[in-house]
Formats: sequence, structure tokens, C-alpha cells
Amino acid sequence: MHLTLEEHIDLQPHNTFHLPCTARYFLRIHHITQLPPLIHSPLFQSHPHLILGSGSNILFATPEYDSIVLKNEIPGIEPISSTTPAHTTLKVSSGVLWTSLVDYCLTHQLGGIENLALIPGTVGAAPVQNVGAYGVEIASVVDSVEVVDLRTGETRVVSNQECEFGYRDSIFKRGGRGGEWFITAVRITLTNAGHGYVPNTMYGSVRETLEQDMGIDIDRVSIQDVAKAVCRLRRRKLPDPQVLGNAGSFFVNPLLQGQMSEESFVQRHPGVLVFRRGDGRMVVPAGELIEACGWKGWRASCTGVYEAHALILVNYGGAKGKEVLELAGRISDSVWDWFGIRLRTEITIILGQ
Ligand code: NAP
Repeated sequence: MHLTLEEHIDLQPHNTFHLPCTARYFLRIHHITQLPPLIHSPLFQSHPHLILGSGSNILFATPEYDSIVLKNEIPGIEPISSTTPAHTTLKVSSGVLWTSLVDYCLTHQLGGIENLALIPGTVGAAPVQNVGAYGVEIASVVDSVEVVDLRTGETRVVSNQECEFGYRDSIFKRGGRGGEWFITAVRITLTNAGHGYVPNTMYGSVRETLEQDMGIDIDRVSIQDVAKAVCRLRRRKLPDPQVLGNAGSFFVNPLLQGQMSEESFVQRHPGVLVFRRGDGRMVVPAGELIEACGWKGWRASCTGVYEAHALILVNYGGAKGKEVLELAGRISDSVWDWFGIRLRTEITIILGQ
């Protein structure tokens, strides 16, 4: 197969922060068969690479990126079986937009990922950080993940257990930048509406939106209702990247375990909101910590902290990646100084080669 790589490609349209960066090589991946010849090419062997989805979770902190950027555009959603009348299993190719998958599930009355409505990015990126929102994580619906090993070209199926999912974490993330595995498809199992579907309304904000804003009886909530409520919540809080450059939450909400004992944190900072997660661990909203340090709405020329949500750093236009990174460092340092908690970045930072 002949592969034509584009050269010196501007990545500004390919990242939702709208940061300037030029990729030395750029290749759109539409089909898994493109991967083996690419992997065995001398160019691939001699250059670093980056797998790029929709660029919604990445910060290019360098103006020149001397690498091969593989833009994942592998399409397709395919029902593979209905293991029981209650469940449908889908094989979803990794270049599909997550929002398209949620739309597909809503159209086909499949429950399980409606709490993850409106999350940006591709399906292939979702297992990497075990995306989760409003009480649901992708780990709860993943059967397995199909990958191509970028060292050998071999395909492999990684089971849910082998994915080692954790809070915004998985084996793919720990490999660094998506690791040496190119995720080609994700198999997920969903619940057919009317066959034991139980909506997840454990988050107070979801319940309030359903009951108070939408006037829905909490005992008669449909898959579509949950998705609508989540979309309302997200639209209220999050800036549209088409209008204001951003990559969503910049930092991961810290789990108290491992950093500081729950008791000592609550005693020292009684005013800070903490939540007990379903797995029993305590999480502190990183946005609250950043806001308490006075950063919410802060702005210096092109960069700043979003006025409605302190977890989101924004590019007001013309910012460079380095400036956003410097701001993130200052925020992280002040949270450390004030709370003794070291924030972990959620987004992938590209420093260049
Ligand atoms: P939020 O709803 O203000 O929540 C902030 C933090 O508080 C999160 O850590 C959340 O835990 C926790 N929390 C809130 N209500 C809770 C409850 N009733 N029970 C247990 N924990 C609770 O956060 P946000 O920034 O506006 O984001 C909304 C949702 O989208 C959150 O669930 C957030 O985690 C999720 N999100 C996910 C990603 C991602 O997957 N990459 C990126 C951005 C936002 P959880 O994190 O466990 O939900």
C-alpha cells in the first residue's frame, strides 16, 4: 500500500485550544490496513509519532513538532451481537466521534453511556483516560479494546480487566501518549431500553436538572432524558471550543487517598467541597481548589482561566502553547502551596522533540 504523508502541516485546526504548531509529517488513518506498511517504513522507524484524535485533550507547547502525526479517522459503528435480549454489543471504530456514538445509542434506545453525552474526542481516546462523567465511566461498558502494536504491526484484543481501568487512568495512559498501541476499535455492551435499563441519577446536579428544570418524574426517566439533562449541565458550564479555545478540564480532580489523609484534609479545609465516590474514595473538585486560590476568571492578554469554571484554561486568541503551560504551572504551584495537593494534568502536553 502506498502511503502519502503530508509535510509541514499546521495543527491549529486540529486542536481545540487552537494553538499554533507545525507537524513535520501528517497522515490520516482511515483504515487499519494502513498501519503495518507505515510501521515498517524507514521514516516511521526513524521518527517519533503521535496519535491524534480530535485534538480536544492536547496542548501543543512547541511551535514545531518534528514527528509523524497520525490523525485517527477510522470510521464505523457495527452491532456485533445481541448477547441477550437485554443487551447489544457494538464494535465501534476508534476514529468515530464520541458524540456520534452517544447519538447512535440514543437513536437505537441503548442505555449505558448517556451520562457521557457531549464529551468531546474520539472513541479511541475514551478508554485511554477512562472518560467518566456524572457517575458513569466508560470502563463500565467496555468489553474489550482492539489495538495494533506499533512496534510489530500485530493486532491484539485487550480485555476489560487487562485495560487496568482506574480513575481517569488505564494501561493505555500509563504507556505514555496512548502508548505503543494504536487503539483501532472498542467493543461495548449496552442495555436495551425496556430490558432492565436503570438510569444513573446519583449526581445531585443531574437529578435537579431532570426534576426542576425539565419537570420529569425521577421514577420515569428515559435514556434520552438523562442525556438531555447532562447536555444542559455541560452547556451551562463549559465554553464552546469553536468560540473560545480550550481543552476542557486541564487537571484531574484529585483523589485524596495517597496524597493526604481524608480526615486531615477535611479538618484543615472545612469549607472545601469533597465527594465520596462510588468506589469509596474521596475526590476533591480541582476547580474548587483553583477557585479558592483566586484564579477563576483570571486573565493575562491571550490566556486565562474560564470565568464559569476554574478547571478550564482558555486561549482568548493568539496564545502560544508555552504561555498556557506557564499559567498551568503557576496554578498548580499555588494549589500545592495552599492545599498541599499536587494537581495532575488531564491533558497530553506536547513539548516537542
Ligand atoms: P463537577 O460535577 O463539579 O464535579 C467535580 C468533582 O466532584 C468531580 O471529581 C466529581 O467526581 C465530584 N462529584 C460531584 N458530584 C458528585 C457526586 N454526587 N458524587 C460523587 N462525586 C461527585 O465537575 P465538572 O468539572 O463540572 O464535570 C462534570 C462531570 O464531568 C464530572 O463527573 C467530571 O468528572 C466529568 N469530566 C470528565 C472528564 C474526563 O473524563 N476526562 C473531563 C471533564 C469532566 P467524578 O469525577 O468522579 O465525577
